[in-house]
Amino acid sequence: MPELPEVETIARGLNRKLRGRKITGLWTDWPKYFKRPSGEAAFRRHITAKKITGVSRRAKNIFIHLSDPLRPRSEASDHLLLVHQKMTGHLMVGKWKPFKEQKVGEVWAGQKWIPDPARGPLMDPMNRFIRLIFFLDNKEMLALSDLRRFAKVLCGPEEEILDSADIKKLGPEPLDEKFGYPKFRELFKNKKGRIKQVLMDQNFISGIGNIYADEILWLSKIHPQKSVEDLKEKDLRIIFKNTRFILKKALRLRGTSIDDYRDAEGRRGGYDKVRYVYQREDEPCPRCGTEIKRLKIGGRSAHFCPKCQKV
Ligand SMILES: [Zn+2]
Repeated sequence: MPELPEVETIARGLNRKLRGRKITGLWTDWPKYFKRPSGEAAFRRHITAKKITGVSRRAKNIFIHLSDPLRPRSEASDHLLLVHQKMTGHLMVGKWKPFKEQKVGEVWAGQKWIPDPARGPLMDPMNRFIRLIFFLDNKEMLALSDLRRFAKVLCGPEEEILDSADIKKLGPEPLDEKFGYPKFRELFKNKKGRIKQVLMDQNFISGIGNIYADEILWLSKIHPQKSVEDLKEKDLRIIFKNTRFILKKALRLRGTSIDDYRDAEGRRGGYDKVRYVYQREDEPCPRCGTEIKRLKIGGRSAHFCPKCQKV
């Protein structure tokens, strides 16, 4: 699943490409995305002719800010188009044309759209599961490739969406300038659980998932199953420092593309090549050479060095 560095990379790319554009229509082959407003027709009415004023991110959610250019600024209620890409979704901007049995590279059986022109990063096989397209006034398109169709897409007045329980209960943003060590330590007061699961809890701290939790804990020499009650002051300090370090590094490298993630132009991220332990089972630990082990914690895999990271 895309985590903070991946979602932030996409949001920045979308902001660059979409700001000032108008949405002219939509296409989907999966109307079940539309729960709010409910149904494809209502959703289409909600977004058509709206102007995109910017794109931002909160936790793993992408906010596409919309305004209605036909209404006076004072009356217009700004809308948010929220996309949570979930397991396999990623948003891209480009041009596609309906696929009609052309012989263009390797084609997936259900593929309905093909990049136009049929070359470049959009042709990456991970980008062909186009389920939803927003058409723009400059002939470009905003497309969601979503192999497993788990993405969440909703639209409504900005205040209502920001006020919804899902958004309000999210934990702090780890890269926020105002989020310093004292606030981080405060979060752990009376907190229970295993450190890896705690770091991945979006209502505890936002944006960290399986990849970066493994990386942060390896760099901090903390076992993923360690109970947070047993963490010392110096452990928390180092976890805090490494959380910021790893997330910033991954953001600079535009995320990790081991799984489905690609950026807003369909390109791979660069963190895969420098990762320490994530999905490196049986490879040597970059610090001590011991084989990296994999462990199941709460249904998810954790990768760690049994020598550097003792319980
Ligand atoms: Zn090691």
